[in-house]
Amino acid sequence: MLYQLLPTAREVGVSKELRGWSWHQPPLKPYYYDVKLPMYAVCSKYCPTNRDVYLRYVEKIAPIPSGKVALGKILHGVVSDCLRAFAQRRSVYFESWWQTIRWSEINEKPENLKEPSRKVWDFLQKICEARLAEVSSMQPYASELDLIASAVPFLVEHKISGELLGLSGILSLDCYDYLKAIMFDLKVASEPQEWHRLSPVGYALVFESVHEVPVDVCCNVYLDVKDGKVLVRRDLFFASDELRQWWIEERDKKLEIVAEGKDPGKPNRSQCPEDCMYFKVCYE
Ligand code: SF4
Repeated sequence: MLYQLLPTAREVGVSKELRGWSWHQPPLKPYYYDVKLPMYAVCSKYCPTNRDVYLRYVEKIAPIPSGKVALGKILHGVVSDCLRAFAQRRSVYFESWWQTIRWSEINEKPENLKEPSRKVWDFLQKICEARLAEVSSMQPYASELDLIASAVPFLVEHKISGELLGLSGILSLDCYDYLKAIMFDLKVASEPQEWHRLSPVGYALVFESVHEVPVDVCCNVYLDVKDGKVLVRRDLFFASDELRQWWIEERDKKLEIVAEGKDPGKPNRSQCPEDCMYFKVCYE
């Protein structure tokens, strides 16, 4: 952050027409105003031809979620609820949290998800406590509220409208560090891909469009649980002009598919991931 990313961000900068607050003019101004898409539809490059977007938003076919999607949903809930409980100094125990899950919305057996969830819950509680202890040790006269704000300076699952940029009005960003102005996105059980950077960059643009503050740094956090161990990797990067332009291209392509109702067709079958949520729709 200090020696590489921030100096680069300051030196290279971001073109003013690629800041979210330039939403009223090209290239950020959306061409199709009648269509609004969620962020994951714009940023996912899972399907090589974007047929998944056509099936979901033109044909209105619901996807068939896989076990990996269920794990992602549960661990997103673990991270956000655990961080929020900590920030509000509420004592929430994993077992009581587990009882609040609505299983009708999750397509996986609870017993397959419970242990990874517990591991991540315990892990987060430990690192939050450790961070709070570290901050407290440096600021003996700070109030508890101030210490918490310094230890976990996060807006978690913050609700924000993406309508100025052609997105849904009820977006929910994973996490924003309001002290360092970093936009975080959580990826569960995924191998890093270049296109994963699109999602936090998209949220940075939306944040800029609504709040008119610059967000120059983004971070993907890759979370997994393997052999009982919690694994975390971070990809911290500059939200550069190139990434912003790439995001705009993806948004425009997908808005066009939905607005024009065009089926982009299937790629060669070997290019389709077998765990694609539309595999059965496309090939059975
Ligand atoms: S099965 Fe292939 S073509 Fe169909 S949505 Fe999935 S990736 Fe796209």
